[in-house]
Formats: sequence, C-alpha cells, structure tokens
Amino acid sequence: MSSLSLQHLDKIYDNKVQAVFDFNLDVKDGEFIVLVGPSGCGKSTTLRMVAGLEDISKGKLIIDNKDVTKMPPKDRDIAMVFQNYALYGHMTIYENMAFSLNLRRDNKNEIHQKVLAAAEILGLTDQLNKKPNQLSGGQRQRVAMGRAIVRTPKVFLFDEPLSNLDAKLRGATRREILLLHKRLNATMLYVTHDQTEALTLADRIVCMSMGHVQQIGTPLELYDTPANLFVAGFIGLPPMNFFDVEIKDGQAICDGFAVDLTPEEKDRLVDYDGKTIVLGVRPENIVEGGNVSVEVFSNENLGQTTLVNGMVNKHRITCKFRDWCNYKAGDTVQVSFNRKHFFDKETGNAIR
Ligand code: ADP
Repeated sequence: MSSLSLQHLDKIYDNKVQAVFDFNLDVKDGEFIVLVGPSGCGKSTTLRMVAGLEDISKGKLIIDNKDVTKMPPKDRDIAMVFQNYALYGHMTIYENMAFSLNLRRDNKNEIHQKVLAAAEILGLTDQLNKKPNQLSGGQRQRVAMGRAIVRTPKVFLFDEPLSNLDAKLRGATRREILLLHKRLNATMLYVTHDQTEALTLADRIVCMSMGHVQQIGTPLELYDTPANLFVAGFIGLPPMNFFDVEIKDGQAICDGFAVDLTPEEKDRLVDYDGKTIVLGVRPENIVEGGNVSVEVFSNENLGQTTLVNGMVNKHRITCKFRDWCNYKAGDTVQVSFNRKHFFDKETGNAIR
C-alpha cells in the first residue's frame, strides 16, 4: 500500500470558481482519512484531483514519493467507489468485478482468483451470477467496493459511498468498510458530509468549509478541541450550543445566566476580561442541577438519552440528558455546564 501527499493544492474551475484553496495533507501508508464538510465545500473536487478526474490548478500530488500531478488517471493506480455504484446493468456481478482486470488483459486465472477472493471478503460469493438489478442497494455498494478491491490499488477513494442507502443499511455498511480497511490495511480517502461517518471511520478527519481546510486531526481532537467555531458547530450531534458571553470577575455572563469559571478557565481567558467572547457547550455536557434556568419547549426520548430543547432567556439551548426524562413544554429545568469551550468572537478561533 501507499503514502500520499497533497501539497498546496488549488482548484480553480474554468468559470473562475475557486473550489479548493491551498490544501495540504500527508496521508500515511494504511491510513483512513475522511474529508468532511457541508455540501459545496470542495471535498469531491479534492478527491477528484487525487483521482486525476480534475486537473490540479496549482500545487503537487505525490503518491509513494512519485510526482503524479500531471499523470492520467489510469496510471495513478487508484480505485474510486462512487455513491451511485456505477455498475454495468447487463453484466453479472462476476463480470462487473472482473471488468477492469479484463480491460487491462490480466491473466484469466488470476482474475478468477481475485474476483473469488474479493467476493469472499464482501460476502458476495452466492451472488456472482446475478445481475445488479437482482441485488439490494447494500449489496450493490459491496459490488462497487469489490470492483475496487480486485485491482489492489495503491489508494482507495470513496465519494459519499453510503448516501444512497437507508439509515440502517448505512450503519451496517459503514461497519463493513471499517472491517475492510482493517483487513486490507489500505490507504483510504473518504468523502462525506456526514459527521457521524467521519467520527466513526477516520483515523484522521479533514474538516473543510468553503474550500478551506479548517482542521486536521483525530476524531477525538476535532470533537474535544475544535480549532474554531465552524468545526465546533459541525462535529458533534446535536450541534454545540453557542452563547455570546462577557468575561467579568471570574464569570461568563450572558443575558439570562452567569456561570463561574474554573481556575484553569480564568487563566486561559485572562486577556479577555471585560470582553465578549463565544461560549460553546455541547448538549451532552449539560447536566441537571445548577443555576442556569431552561424553559423547556420539547422533550425527545431517544431510549438511553433524552434531548431537551428549550430557551435560556432569549437563547435556544439543546440539552442531552442521560436518562429517560419527562419534561413538559413550559417546565423549567435548572442545569449546569460540565465542560465549556471558548472562542474569540472576532476570529472565531478557539481560545486555548
Ligand atoms: P462538495 O464535494 O464538498 O459538495 P464540490 O467539490 O463538489 O463540493 O464543489 C465545490 C465547489 O466547486 C462548489 O461551489 C461547486 O459549485 C463548484 N464546482 C464543482 N464542480 C464544478 C465544475 N465542474 N465547474 C464549476 N464549478 C464547480
């Protein structure tokens, strides 16, 4: 398998739209990287530049220490799995999986062995004689992966591979992709707009917004120490709550509540005394009991947890409590925050 280096990549389309700005990433051999961000932030464009399906406007792409910036796709030894599977309807599953190997005129016996091995890994052995329209969406997605696996490429690219599957199948297929990654020890670059996929699949996440990389790090790093307001709001579900607060006399003061700062937080915010900053609190870091009053407007039971939505004065808040709660609209619940995040209001950057 292989390492990959994306160096100062820019993409400017013919209509002068710049979709990607100065993208930098070194992917280690066998690493699973997930590019995540909202629709239109430049994820697919980045992936397509790696695949060679889009020209690189500026910068360099290195695969295994070789500059492939200008190399055509077929010579890059990369396999891409798309969300629409792109299977040939008139061919059997076997023929679909063997297709690219037949095209490059590999030895027939070797092709046969490779297809059988991939089918075995993906649980498709009994489906090889069927046509794509006889398979479920999940099975078709596995065939699409099988087509990539037989090529033993240097790098696997996935472009939103699960977005056409229903929620339950998405979870199951996600787990299969994880197992596949373990089994093949392959270098993978995976694009999604779904933060859950990013958190559950990635060794490292690249979070993007409007063509710019916002943060690169492990799932825990992005969840626990988001670099800025964008990452803080994008990673985590339900999203982090934000409040404008004034820092004064060891407290964070909002219209409607004041919370005490810990000694460590006071130290961190020493330059912000008298200033307004943004306080971020994850729903799961809000606990019942405390001096912040929430007026409840909805109570959503999820089984092990309950989402309680309400207002703190004029501000919306979502709390995620551990137990089954039965609050009614109009109830008041007292809460406190057991972990807080702070952001500079001007730059949006986390205050460390
Ligand atoms: P994502 O994958 O994050 O949804 P894309 O990489 O598809 O985002 O798109 C990034 C930006 O580039 C968007 O503003 C999109 O409209 C623009 N874009 C994508 N493809 C083209 C194209 N072929 N020509 C012009 N602009 C494009």
